[in-house]
Amino acid sequence: MEGLVKYWKEKKIITSKSVIKAFMKVPREEFVLSEYKRDAYSDYPLPIGYGQTISQPTTVMLMSQALEVKQGNKVLEVGTGSGYQAAILSCLVGKKGFVYTTEIIKELAGFARNNLERCGIKNVKVLNIDGSKGYKRDMPYDRIILTAASPKIPKHLVKQLKREGILLAPVGSLYEQDMLKITKNGDRLETKNLGSFVFVRLRGLHGFEDKLT
Ligand code: SAH
Repeated sequence: MEGLVKYWKEKKIITSKSVIKAFMKVPREEFVLSEYKRDAYSDYPLPIGYGQTISQPTTVMLMSQALEVKQGNKVLEVGTGSGYQAAILSCLVGKKGFVYTTEIIKELAGFARNNLERCGIKNVKVLNIDGSKGYKRDMPYDRIILTAASPKIPKHLVKQLKREGILLAPVGSLYEQDMLKITKNGDRLETKNLGSFVFVRLRGLHGFEDKLT
């Protein structure tokens, strides 16, 4: 990951020290399929089976940075996939923080659990549930991150945020989405558009209909 981190620093797109540290610490090769190990440090998404992908490192970096995670935070992720983004979040919240990550595909939840366990990560819980509904049991969260394309602004998830919480979600069509950063300020909401991205679709109750595949 040194090469990519150096490039991000040169381009001044990475500024957060804690995010740099997290990227240097988590071995991405532990989160890709064995046939893609050689590509683990290249800047593109890779297939992880079941029609899903591990996101491109630059996307994970930009989202991790925009989420402004602090030590001790409780974070909810929707779309575990490989578990790589969750591993980065685990470093950012530190020992006193916790990450809940939700994955709708049972086999991928298992894949992520194994990957996280192999890396000795203990402050992440992988839940095999429809994360489009959030996870009410342990709300409210300091931060919520969606790593699958949402057809609309996930208002019901905003409700699961703390009063000063931040939610990050790619919102749009199946082919392109705007990365929205929603910051809660008591009863007020501020929405910023961080640019366009392409994610695999969110499924489940608040996702795209399954028949659209
Ligand atoms: N963050 C992942 C990449 C996400 S790919 C990583 O670091 O590797 C998006 C994932 O969201 C896919 O694995 C997909 O199965 C999952 N997903 C889609 N809809 C979901 C839902 N409603 N609840 C939970 N997971 C969902």
